[in-house]
Amino acid sequence: MARKIVAGNWKMNLLPDEGYQLIEDLSNFCEGNKLDNVEVVVSPPFIHLAKAAEMTAHSKLTISAQNCSDQLSGAYTGEVSVEMLKAAGVNWTLIGHSERREYYGDTDEFVNGKLKRTIEAEMTPVLCVGEVLEDRKAGKQEEVVASQLKGALAGFSADEVKNMVIAYEPVWAIGTGETASPEQAQEVHAFIRKYLTQTYSAEVANAVSILYGGSVKPENAKEIFGQPDVDGGLIGGASLKYEQFVKLIEIGQ
Ligand code: 13P
Repeated sequence: MARKIVAGNWKMNLLPDEGYQLIEDLSNFCEGNKLDNVEVVVSPPFIHLAKAAEMTAHSKLTISAQNCSDQLSGAYTGEVSVEMLKAAGVNWTLIGHSERREYYGDTDEFVNGKLKRTIEAEMTPVLCVGEVLEDRKAGKQEEVVASQLKGALAGFSADEVKNMVIAYEPVWAIGTGETASPEQAQEVHAFIRKYLTQTYSAEVANAVSILYGGSVKPENAKEIFGQPDVDGGLIGGASLKYEQFVKLIEIGQ
């Protein structure tokens, strides 16, 4: 069975001091509670990462980046390499979030390059996929997700894919307050699992955690996390508030 994960994506929110306070509070929560059945991950902005990783070096809270470069080093202004992340104590990163795909040119090929860097560096990537509203209305969600998976995972071995996490985030449900219904989420999660079984093996499909993201809140998480192929969540807005995120961790475990 894939491990359960509740991950927060802070996006471009929280100033350093606000962020460190939240890290400290979450770290204390993770230490004070028996969280044997769930891995808790938070993805602060780059500038918070080094200190956040230092603060949580001995804690059960995992720190993740939100992005990384597809290049190793060199003249790439504004980029951060996987080696830099690792040196800062950060071993996870989100890759191909829909906001990066929409605003910063993360094509499937680009996402594939970034994934390669993370796997070479023995990091855990959280590969984000998901369809836009137009595709959902046309009933093309599985086609879109399959094509994103095919492009992103090109050239990886089954063993490499086994070490990845996948997040299904329907773009129309991100930050809109409109969540996919538990059935809609389950349908695509089952499809992703089937894709992994057919492309790699049942062993890979069962090892990869598939997280749902898109307006997850304490009020709707129970039903979504309760679906057989949903292994947890990737949470935006509700991960910025301690009380809400802690509730989601409790529901997720
Ligand atoms: P919201 O939970 O704010 O909809 O964001 C979801 C998301 O994009 C997480 O990566």
